[in-house]
Amino acid sequence: MPTVGILALQGDVREHAAVLRAAGADVLGVRRPAELEAVDALVLPGGESTTIVKLARTFDLLDPLRKCIADGMPVYGSCAGMILLADRIDGDGSPLEETFGGIDMTVRRNAFGRQVDSFEREVEVAGVPGGPVRAVFIRAPWVSQAGDGVRVLARADTGDGTTRIVAVRQGNLLATSFHPELTGDGRIHAYFCDIVRERSA
Ligand code: GLN
Repeated sequence: MPTVGILALQGDVREHAAVLRAAGADVLGVRRPAELEAVDALVLPGGESTTIVKLARTFDLLDPLRKCIADGMPVYGSCAGMILLADRIDGDGSPLEETFGGIDMTVRRNAFGRQVDSFEREVEVAGVPGGPVRAVFIRAPWVSQAGDGVRVLARADTGDGTTRIVAVRQGNLLATSFHPELTGDGRIHAYFCDIVRERSA
């Protein structure tokens, strides 16, 4: 049974833990480098990406995290976690000096507009069977540009007739703009656990 760590610097940890356990994973909260060394994979939960980066630096996790990503560790980021996995951030007046990086994409923070802080949509996610996933977006980012090696797994209707990329995969890295840990639908986490099991096999 692989051990999946959850970066536990800010919050949204218990919600991910419950869904990961239901998918058959052992779960460990990660706050320090020794804990990162003990896990086979990592979930980057939602929160405030600027705060998470600052805390990661304070806890001496920034370089170890980047090394794990470069070494091919499976990492799944939801919402702020998606922002942390982006190689580039769109200039939208909300500064973020650096991310952990790993996915060749540009992400726009708070992209759906502040007037609508949260909303829900049904989204089809490629590779996730069983029909659309009910996706909860909370001050969510979207992917404004994805490199050639990035697989677009889902797009969502923005409400003004356009669609935006809200789920991507590059190698063992998975990212969603939305929060599947809040709906009781474990299919995104199960998809991630399949990536983890394939790597650990
Ligand atoms: N808006 C947050 C950020 O930019 C992300 C929100 C979330 O994780 N729900 O970091």
